[in-house]
Amino acid sequence: MGAAGATCAQQLRTLEPKAEITIVNGEGLPFYLRLDLASILEGKDSSKLIARKDDYWIENNIQVVYSQAVKLDSKAQTVLLENGEQLAYDKLLIASGAQARRLTCPGAELKEIATYRTLKDAISIYELRDKVKQVVIVGGGILGMEVAYAARAYDWDITLLVRESHVGAPLIDEEGGGFIQQALEQGGVNVIYEDEVARYEGSDKVEAVVTEAGRRLPANLVIECIGVAPDLRFLEELGIIEGGRVWVNEGMRTTVPTLFAAGDAAVVKMLNSHDVTCHNWNVAIAQARVAAEAMTGRDAKWNEGVYYNADRFYDQEFAIIGPWERRTLSGRKLETQTTGEAFRAVVSVNGVIESALVVGDKTGNKLLRRLIASRAKIEGKFDRLFDPEATAGAFE
Ligand SMILES: Cc1cc2nc3c(=O)[nH]c(=O)nc-3n(C[C@H](O)[C@H](O)[C@H](O)COP(=O)(O)OP(=O)(O)OC[C@H]3O[C@@H](n4cnc5c(N)ncnc54)[C@H](O)[C@@H]3O)c2cc1C
Repeated sequence: MGAAGATCAQQLRTLEPKAEITIVNGEGLPFYLRLDLASILEGKDSSKLIARKDDYWIENNIQVVYSQAVKLDSKAQTVLLENGEQLAYDKLLIASGAQARRLTCPGAELKEIATYRTLKDAISIYELRDKVKQVVIVGGGILGMEVAYAARAYDWDITLLVRESHVGAPLIDEEGGGFIQQALEQGGVNVIYEDEVARYEGSDKVEAVVTEAGRRLPANLVIECIGVAPDLRFLEELGIIEGGRVWVNEGMRTTVPTLFAAGDAAVVKMLNSHDVTCHNWNVAIAQARVAAEAMTGRDAKWNEGVYYNADRFYDQEFAIIGPWERRTLSGRKLETQTTGEAFRAVVSVNGVIESALVVGDKTGNKLLRRLIASRAKIEGKFDRLFDPEATAGAFE
């Protein structure tokens, strides 16, 4: 059970006090705060991450079945579970999220090759902290860097193996990545760029990572952070999957009237414009609320709002504000500013601010969020955006 499933069930109970609600929980754990897994690596007690204990669902007359959905029959309106049970439904929300991608190279079956997506993953990594020394993190995206940072207190020799020419890709560009790279290196992380895993070596447990460029990196733990992909095999043959996700409209409706989707499993086709994929806790929650409205016959629409994702690595803070992934589409103008302490990049379309990336300084983030939300004109005023005295009024 993830953020989307739990939120939708709660909202449904509020909207429909008498409805029969069932959550199929395939993870075998109560609903927990997945976005806070780094704190487990930092030693937090896992019980502190549990957001909803089983009692909560009992009190709210919501049934939780601990099993995996293996086949959905949209004509019969039933879902078959791994435990053999078959559940009937009138409306069903697909909130199965995404799973960690795994490499399938030679040696991928060796022990001590971990992923970082679930509470069990984080606990396993934490339990190994004093048993391993040479650690290779595969993937220099946000999660790879998050693990490197969270493990800073361990006595580990960490190598971060990055396929791209900089860390943080694809969200963060080369110049911004440079700031985070400095922070990682100051933290003692050995970063290797433009290289990737060719195979793993070892007899039972992993002993080394051999790369495409021919490096041999000794390792007694490998943590693969190479992105996520929804596992939607239980929906095969329904015709609602494209590009590996369930396509929905802004009302979280699929093309099958009884089926809805929200969160990381879904991609929202915005009316007359772009598609939005969820990788964000608050987005999953907002979408699930809309889905609950739609499932109870109400006419709600998900509003994309202004995306905001902020994180911190060592002494470097960074934030992505607005639809930054659209910066390479046609008609976009990218303006950047690099100072000793910070890298700032702003995208505009016809002079109107659309998104921003800021590394190393969070003081102007609130203003940027306001300006992006109000679609402010910033043409010719780029430098004023980062003036500590600037106010939204200056861009009206
Ligand atoms: C380490 C980490 C850090 C993150 N940090 C942040 C952050 O700082 N800020 C932020 O906004 N977002 C963050 N995210 C992303 C955020 O956690 C996700 O966007 C959010 O959890 C998505 O929620 P969801 O409910 O769609 O999917 P999930 O949380 O993936 O939940 C889906 C659930 O469905 C279960 N399931 C899958 N298939 C089946 C099936 N067939 N039958 C039954 N159950 C099934 C899964 O086991 C899982 O329990 C982070 C993610 C990770 C992994």
